[in-house]
Amino acid sequence: MTAQLIDGVALSKTLRGQVAERAARLGLKPGLAVILVGDDPASAVYVRNKVKACHEHGLHSVFEKYEATLPEAALLARIAALNADPAIHGILVQMPLPRHIDAQKVIAAIATEKDVDGFSVLSAGELASGLPGLRPCTPYGCMKLIESTGVDLRGRHAVVIGRSNTVGKPMALMLLQANATVTVCHSATADLAHHVRQADVVVAAVGRRNTVTAGMVKPGAIVIDVGMNRNDEGKLCGDVDFAAVKDVAGWITPVPGGVGPMTITMLLVNTLEAAERTLRR
Ligand code: NAP
Repeated sequence: MTAQLIDGVALSKTLRGQVAERAARLGLKPGLAVILVGDDPASAVYVRNKVKACHEHGLHSVFEKYEATLPEAALLARIAALNADPAIHGILVQMPLPRHIDAQKVIAAIATEKDVDGFSVLSAGELASGLPGLRPCTPYGCMKLIESTGVDLRGRHAVVIGRSNTVGKPMALMLLQANATVTVCHSATADLAHHVRQADVVVAAVGRRNTVTAGMVKPGAIVIDVGMNRNDEGKLCGDVDFAAVKDVAGWITPVPGGVGPMTITMLLVNTLEAAERTLRR
């Protein structure tokens, strides 16, 4: 292995420790409200982990669970109440929502200053315009992982594979803001390998294993693997052929233990930053 491992578990631990310290100094307890509608088992696990992480790091959290039949208007009314609640600095509605609820309408109902998922059109606009604001947790975590290498992104070529509103697009904008030259690839990209070969930084956010192979990676590149897939043995794996790419890359994130732990960590960071902004206003 030539690549240095970028350890998302260790970085998460450091950042969570900093969140707890900053929260203790703040003079108020940053508060996160997490709303779950329905009985999706995977969503229940994600929500439980988010609430647990809050409690472990000095944040106040409120968990609200509703039946899948909850009317859209009732959910919107709850969000309006949480928008007005001074003890709550971040609001997260776990996706997916039942089909009768318009997810876009729900996301838009969250006050921008409490949009700790960073998914609203206004939060996306702040990011696109280079304005301060709350950033989507997964790409924000990827930026922290890249920063941890100590490599200055100015003038580097970054290739993002994937253009979803939650990962690929905000990732590309954050890299642009850090002065990288950015290429975004997607399912209609004609020659993916050609683009990835030019990259000093590769971020793979596709959801298909072995999308990035050793022959596609420039020696010494930083490789960030966002993908969460299962291999033939049912084990969790990313979009990158880790076993082969680790011998070419300069830095690489593992799956599990890379991007995954950072997502909840950045939710805590966003909740803290939202509370800090409230105090500054
Ligand atoms: P998504 O909405 O399905 O987007 C996937 C993107 O990949 C799309 O833009 C798609 O292009 C592109 N794509 C598909 N096939 C491709 C190909 N052959 N070559 C190049 N691009 C291709 O997925 P997502 O929500 O962004 O998530 C991506 C992956 O990250 C998933 O595995 C997801 O589970 C994982 N993820 C992990 C975390 C974490 O915390 N670790 C968080 C979020 C997501 P088109 O736009 O043209 O369809």
